[in-house]
Amino acid sequence: MNQAADKVNLLDFDRQGLRDYFAQLGEKPYRAEQVMKWIYHRLENDFENMTDVGKSLREKLAAVCYVGPPKSMFDKAAIDGTHKWLLGMDGGNAIETVYIPEPTRGTLCVSSQVGCALNCQFCSTATQGFNRNLSTAEIIGQVWVAAKHLGNVPHQQRRITNVVMMGMGEPLLNFDNVVAAMSLMRDDLGFGLASKRVTLSTAGLVPMIDRLSTESDVSLAVSLHAANDELRTELVPLNKRYPLAELMAACDRYNERRPRTHITFEYTLMKGVNDQPEHARQLIKFMRRVHGRNKVNLIPFNPFPGTRFERSDPTVIRDFQTQLLNAGVLTMLRRTRGDDIDAACGQLKGQVLDRTRRQAEFRKKLEEGSVNAA
Ligand code: SF4
Repeated sequence: MNQAADKVNLLDFDRQGLRDYFAQLGEKPYRAEQVMKWIYHRLENDFENMTDVGKSLREKLAAVCYVGPPKSMFDKAAIDGTHKWLLGMDGGNAIETVYIPEPTRGTLCVSSQVGCALNCQFCSTATQGFNRNLSTAEIIGQVWVAAKHLGNVPHQQRRITNVVMMGMGEPLLNFDNVVAAMSLMRDDLGFGLASKRVTLSTAGLVPMIDRLSTESDVSLAVSLHAANDELRTELVPLNKRYPLAELMAACDRYNERRPRTHITFEYTLMKGVNDQPEHARQLIKFMRRVHGRNKVNLIPFNPFPGTRFERSDPTVIRDFQTQLLNAGVLTMLRRTRGDDIDAACGQLKGQVLDRTRRQAEFRKKLEEGSVNAA
């Protein structure tokens, strides 16, 4: 299929966008929905095979647009069934997408940016620097590629039951493209996932949490990792700009606007850094102050080459969890998955070229407060 640069990638449109585009082509909106079903329900990207679409429309579409998911450069399955894809992006860059099967669900961890500028100290993506935002097509395309590979057919065989925006990048810094892609994940003509099964994870970009609460009803996860400002600023430098009190207030506003959802606070446990009883006490205090039925997801740190951090000992992790549970904090412990293919969701790497200048510019804007969303 010819995918010339001047053609339009249909994966860039949510349902309304696709209807508008078909209207521009002089076609009825229901034709857009017919094509959408082929793309997301049957995972078809060749107009020629869309057999209930008239031949003349198929030819017209092939002349001006295409269905272009990212190209899989490499994929690998771990012994535990975890599957990782390295997907090629423009400019020699690459991102990672990971599928984690469990007995009752299958979770796909999706990236939102090529690299990340937020520089969380324990994150292997941060060591890559930042290059650019992903387009809507590149975000929803990750789900498309994984679904095709796994034989996921919505309404028949659903291998992907949950999507977490927890791969490379800070999704709230790529707001419009992420929200459009999450809309396709939840649309009945798209992947048809329930809102509570699509989760956006943020390092705590306060103004954009507020915006998200008014524009999308997905589940929210916050990368917390410490419940005192000094330590959190060290681990998640964004905390300097949006400290815990502001983050808590934003979470309260989110819960007020979305009373049927709850927020998950992610807490990566690092040996001797944030895993001591005093840290658990601070986390308990934090959880009691945030309104709503929220929960903590404890994540044993996944070491990567060059990191100064280590995974906490299993007994320390268990004691930390017990301390939280005894205080009445709903606490889950994430099992480490895909260790043999280096596939920890939330700590993905990929390959980022040409990163230094953009990263420096981006950080400057962030410090000046002139960046909310890209
Ligand atoms: S943890 Fe998330 S926000 Fe922080 S550097 Fe890594 S990808 Fe970026």
